[in-house]
Amino acid sequence: MSKTFEKLQPYLDKSMALQTARNLFEWDDQTTAPFEAADNTSIVIGILSDEYMKSLINDDVRHLLKKLQEKKEQADLTDTERAIVKELGKTYEQLESIPPEEYRAFNELISISSRTWAKAKKDNRYEEFAPYLEKVIDYKKKFASYRVKGDKKPYEVLLGDYDECFMIRELDIFFEQIKKEIIPLLKEVAKKAETIDKSYNYLNYDINKQREFCRYLSGYVGFDFNRGVIAESAHPFTMQLHNHDVRITNRYIENNLESAMFSIIHESGHALYEMNIADSITQTLVGGGASMGMHESQSRLYENVLGRSRDFWEPIYEKLTATYPENLSNISLDHFIKGINKAAPSLIRTEADELTYCLHILIRYEIEKAIFAEEVKVAELPKLWNQKYQEYIGITPSSDEEGILQDTHWSWGEFGYFPSYAVGTAIASQLYACMLDKMPLESYLKESNLTPIREYLEDNIHKYGAVKNTGEILKDVCGEDFRADYYIQYLKDKYTKLYDL
Ligand code: ZN
Repeated sequence: MSKTFEKLQPYLDKSMALQTARNLFEWDDQTTAPFEAADNTSIVIGILSDEYMKSLINDDVRHLLKKLQEKKEQADLTDTERAIVKELGKTYEQLESIPPEEYRAFNELISISSRTWAKAKKDNRYEEFAPYLEKVIDYKKKFASYRVKGDKKPYEVLLGDYDECFMIRELDIFFEQIKKEIIPLLKEVAKKAETIDKSYNYLNYDINKQREFCRYLSGYVGFDFNRGVIAESAHPFTMQLHNHDVRITNRYIENNLESAMFSIIHESGHALYEMNIADSITQTLVGGGASMGMHESQSRLYENVLGRSRDFWEPIYEKLTATYPENLSNISLDHFIKGINKAAPSLIRTEADELTYCLHILIRYEIEKAIFAEEVKVAELPKLWNQKYQEYIGITPSSDEEGILQDTHWSWGEFGYFPSYAVGTAIASQLYACMLDKMPLESYLKESNLTPIREYLEDNIHKYGAVKNTGEILKDVCGEDFRADYYIQYLKDKYTKLYDL
């Protein structure tokens, strides 16, 4: 081990411990803490966050990092150490470019802006949120301008925070393809989808039975209950403390069968990624997933590509109907498969089906790009939003609540985040295509043998954590760069077959 890296290690250990403690409080806050705990606990979380930052951002670490970035020191490092140094370098680049007083003011602003957003959404009053959104955008533009280098655009600085492999050039090509191919496909599918009766999905489903069946599904795809737990929260999410403690949540709705089932498969996909990260890198700066997009590719591979296939349900559908005989005994497997793959134009991103989901992201991407290219004013955003929904999805929101106010991301200053959802979805199809070449995937599903699938993902993707980036993983697994045509083809094949187009 390099002597310099050895000196860095205690700082890394301390920051990891502080971050783990903070995460644990956040988990508790969103799952089991009593209603009135939030205000007092937020003081604890705030102090832990501060201490975490100080443990990583200080003169000693700065000095060691600088040294470790030198060529001759780099030669002494292992791949993992080099990746950790790179990650630490990114954190410094992000934070050091911003004057501390501006960073503090921004954090105060987003705490108010996110609360204002929640109220504005509830009251359907965009004009109340708009002045805060404008300030958040101004800060993000300013912060991006501090960090912009070479011929990069400010928006790309923000995109790079979520995935360094997808800049405007790559995303433009990707979304153009989606526009060209998915919009006409959706029009065809929507016509046929009207004939699918999905009323069975909205009958009464006992919550305890849902809990039990979801636990079964999670274990079925490979969730290890010795290393993970399932709790409940308002919105399902995954949080890892390390690879032996991965936590997911779910939400159960009495008159919706699908909601909890597909959420649990989705979060289990995230959880498998975290559980399978190698012991040698867990609890380090590269001990999480490679990127937002890569993470989402794993959750969506399980939720959509595998979880909504006939092969997946064939061996277990009987168990589902036996759980709810009163609602499902007359619903055939084929009917159920059509039901879980019903696609139609919709307004709310988080409730969108597999076919329309990326169109929702396309709209957000184009709007973010326009904002950072100074092509649109904050007051004009609802109009632009509604125009794009009409143009791409074929419906117009009747209120801002189900239009521009629906997502929380912008109120937190999270610009550049949305594209990773779509990229992840497309990566899932590309991985699926190359897995089909390498293993009898369909037979595995039919035989309830999901272990080889999980092991393949572990060996080729999960165990590396963030030591490799998205592009490197794709290159190593599929032998090529990211390509959107796998995703387009996947959707075309799936819906043509399902809907007899
Ligand atoms: Zn997810």
